[in-house]
Amino acid sequence: MLYCVAIENARLYQESITDGLTGLFHHKYFMARLKAEVDRARRYKIPLTLIMIDIDFFKKVNDTCGHPAGDKVLKEIADILKEKTRLGDIVARYVGEEFAVILPYISYKSALIVSERFRKVIEEKRFDEIKLTISAGLGFFDGTDASFDSEMMLELVDRALYKAKNNGRNRVEVLRHCEQ
Ligand code: GH3
Ligand code: MG
Ligand code: MG
Repeated sequence: MLYCVAIENARLYQESITDGLTGLFHHKYFMARLKAEVDRARRYKIPLTLIMIDIDFFKKVNDTCGHPAGDKVLKEIADILKEKTRLGDIVARYVGEEFAVILPYISYKSALIVSERFRKVIEEKRFDEIKLTISAGLGFFDGTDASFDSEMMLELVDRALYKAKNNGRNRVEVLRHCEQ
C-alpha cells in the first residue's frame, strides 16, 4: 500500500512539472532549473550551455494545416529533442513553439555539435509531408564570471536567437560569456 502511494506521489510530481501537450518540462520548472544550474556552474566554475529553439514560420503550419496539426508537430519536435539529448539534460517547452535545452557541464565544442544535430535532424524530417526548419540561439557560459546569472543567460540566448532569425533562419547562432 505504502509502495503504491509512493509511486502515485512520484507520478503526481512528474505531472506537476510537465507540459501537457509535449511531455517536456514546463516554463516554471525550466526557470527554476536554469537558475539552479547557472548558480552551480558559477560556484564550481564549470561550463553551462542554454539553447533556445524557435520553429521557423510556424504560423504557416497552423494556417494551412490547422491547429491540431500544429500541435502534433510540436509533440514530434519535443520527441526529437528528448531523443537527441542525454538523461541529465533539461529539455523544456519554453513558451508556445519555443523550446529550451540546458546542457550542464558540456564543452563548447560538444554544445555546438548537439545544437547543429537538432537543426539538421529537423530539417531532414517530414512531419506528415510538412517540411520545417528551426532557428536556435546558443548561449555558452564558461563558469568563470562570479556575477553571471540566469537572467544574463536568457538575454544571451535571446540575442543569439534574434541573430539566427535575422541571418536567414534554419541556423544556429552562438554567443559566449567567457573570461578573455
Ligand atoms: P518565425 O520564423 O519568425 O519564428 O515565424 P513564426 O510564424 O514561427 O512566428 P512566431 O515564432 O511568432 O510564431 C508563433 C506561432 O506559434 C503563433 C502561434 O499560432 C503558434 N503557436 C504557439 N503555441 C502553439 C500551440 O500550442 N499549438 C499550436 N498549434 N500553435 C502554437
Ligand atoms: Mg516564436
Ligand atoms: Mg517561430
